[in-house]
Amino acid sequence: MEHVYDLVILGAGPAGLSAAIYAKRAMLDFVILEKWLPGGEIANTFEVENYLGVNRLSGMELANNMVKHAEDLGVKIISDPAENVDFSKDIKKIVTETNTYYTKTVIIASGASPRKLGVKGESRLSGSGVSYCATCDGFLYKNKVVAVVGGGDVAVEDAIYLSRMCSKVYLIHRRDELRAVKSLQERMFKLPNVEVKWNSIVEDITGENFVENVIIKNKETQVIENLAISGIFIGIGHSPNVDFLKDEVKLDEGSWIITDELLQTNIKGVYAAGDIRVKNLRQIVTAVSDGAIAVNEITKYL
Ligand code: NAP
Repeated sequence: MEHVYDLVILGAGPAGLSAAIYAKRAMLDFVILEKWLPGGEIANTFEVENYLGVNRLSGMELANNMVKHAEDLGVKIISDPAENVDFSKDIKKIVTETNTYYTKTVIIASGASPRKLGVKGESRLSGSGVSYCATCDGFLYKNKVVAVVGGGDVAVEDAIYLSRMCSKVYLIHRRDELRAVKSLQERMFKLPNVEVKWNSIVEDITGENFVENVIIKNKETQVIENLAISGIFIGIGHSPNVDFLKDEVKLDEGSWIITDELLQTNIKGVYAAGDIRVKNLRQIVTAVSDGAIAVNEITKYL
């Protein structure tokens, strides 16, 4: 007879780790499976200043603290990502490359991955000047000219971070106003070596073996510019990590998981927490809150 867990948590970002802490305290029999490194996307954030109780900490430090907190309570994070799931029966099945897990309940907390621009040079030069993580790769561009694409919190934070080490940073944004929170915008506008290219779309990224230029077009004037750069950081949002779910749970048109307010999906016993689900505010605080709510509901369900 196969072992049947009370709960399997998919993903060890803030939502999954928070769920794990609550599951541990509720003495559930559970595992937490992770695809990459535990800690989630915050590990790629250079500074977090809006998470209560944390004045200012690098994303990596906060991620490490969260992982350590869970591990200190006895949570074991298993590096064994789900490849397939079957939620059709009361006992749910999760298949990984090496294992099959059986469980009464599931929390899907697999988060989201950086969205691609989709221009020609992007995939060819990915890792050769095209990056999706300023905090990981920024140091490679000391005293060089770089570009950041996007207008949200991530792009503006990246521009501020890169301005500290690069000689110049272009922020390329497709509209005439930024989506980022005002305090970040103000900080960036004060920086003498950040230049915003408004109403601009990236036509292509070029270079022989490494990024040398980004070609942008102004949507208003139709003027095309060729900016000489050494690196380009794409910060245009995220797409949900739902490929392994196939059609097992209901998604919205953007492929985010639809839940009720108690975080249950359309399948009884299957919950979604954190960035993966349809929500208005994707932040650490809302992810952590989701993890707690989902486990609270699961303890009632069980
Ligand atoms: P976001 O808020 O969705 O912003 C994405 C930006 O990229 C938008 O400005 C969007 O332009 C632009 N964009 C989208 N697709 C594009 C395309 N194909 N070509 C060019 N530009 C494109 O995403 P994010 O900045 O990655 O942030 C994700 C979430 O994490 C947000 O909820 C954010 O608040 C949160 N976050 C919070 C913090 C913090 O609070 N410290 C830090 C980082 C992230 P438009 O504006 O025209 O749509």
